[in-house]
Amino acid sequence: MFSVTRVRFMKINMNLLPAADQKQKPANVLKVPFGTEFTDHMFSMKYVEGSWNDAIIHPYGNLSLSPAALCLHYGQGIFEGMKAYRRGDRILLFRPDRNFIRFNESATRMVMPEIDVDFAITALKHLLKVERDWVPEVQGSSLYIRPTMIGTQAKLGVKPSDEYLFYIILSPVGPYFKEGFSPVKIFISSEYVRAVRGGVGAAKTMGNYAASLYAGTKAAEVGYSQVLWLDALERKYLEEVGTMNIFVKFDDELVTPPLSGSILSGITRDSVLTLTRDMGLTVKERQVSIDEVIEGLQSGKVVEMFGCGTAAIIAPVGQLWYNNNNYTVSDGNTGKLTQHLFDELTGIQSGDLNDPYGWVVEVE
Ligand SMILES: *Cc1c(COP(=O)(O)O)cnc(C)c1O
Repeated sequence: MFSVTRVRFMKINMNLLPAADQKQKPANVLKVPFGTEFTDHMFSMKYVEGSWNDAIIHPYGNLSLSPAALCLHYGQGIFEGMKAYRRGDRILLFRPDRNFIRFNESATRMVMPEIDVDFAITALKHLLKVERDWVPEVQGSSLYIRPTMIGTQAKLGVKPSDEYLFYIILSPVGPYFKEGFSPVKIFISSEYVRAVRGGVGAAKTMGNYAASLYAGTKAAEVGYSQVLWLDALERKYLEEVGTMNIFVKFDDELVTPPLSGSILSGITRDSVLTLTRDMGLTVKERQVSIDEVIEGLQSGKVVEMFGCGTAAIIAPVGQLWYNNNNYTVSDGNTGKLTQHLFDELTGIQSGDLNDPYGWVVEVE
């Protein structure tokens, strides 16, 4: 196991591009497919001989890796997803400490070294100051932030890497789904599963997403944009959607599956739980069976369903596919609570609404 390396005061070197060599920013960020444009610079540092070194902000560019790098063969890689918002001249982050704490939890599960949370936030703020002009202002846009760590030691043979690369890249984005904030169609997989209790489902690690692709393609073939996973043992209880946690509103009760070890502990999920509890709603973290959902859809007891995650924020669920049947959630439109939570969360994140929770962190 690794000890936490104290790098809080590590110097961050700068190697910046001359203005003339910097890229053109997208004319309309809302039209750019999610995660396809990258800014001029990135942050990186290396872990060798037991400590983090060489912290630097440098031009965005390809990595140089051995073809035998352990991450390429055995999947020792983790990442995070967060966003920066612009409000006039201010650049705002949303609960960034939570992302780096979770990053370290993923690291521990994958036998990778931790990073210092305060240093990571400092490095991110430095990078955002350099890339300030890349944070878009138009409503519905943000700068997506992708911290990543990979095992880079060249070795064939399954073992934890001795060397790691940590980096942060930035991508100006609009809505995650091409539908924007309109109801998505979700495919419930009763054949394939994502993660099993005791496995790595709770870690934001590369292999989980590779494991999801096959069912995702099957869903796309029949016109559904996302897969909702059921638990791997019984294929009975709701787990989560591709990159989102799931909420179901039964009459007056809002429900989301508990953190059982096979789903991601979403920061948006946690924020939704806080907001809805403070609204006085009855909110439960409990198992929800697919039968309860289907019955509720048929009886009208299921009044709203939505997914939530940093990339999509809040995504209303309009249609469900299960066992060769299509079900419409309520009237298929965005529910009242779903709309309210979207407005509330995006309002707090972008600085338009008051933030009573101290979630927003300004880049100064
Ligand atoms: C990132 C992610 C989420 C959402 O987490 P947030 O912290 O809300 O962004 C949910 N499920 C999976 C599988 C994820 O990778």
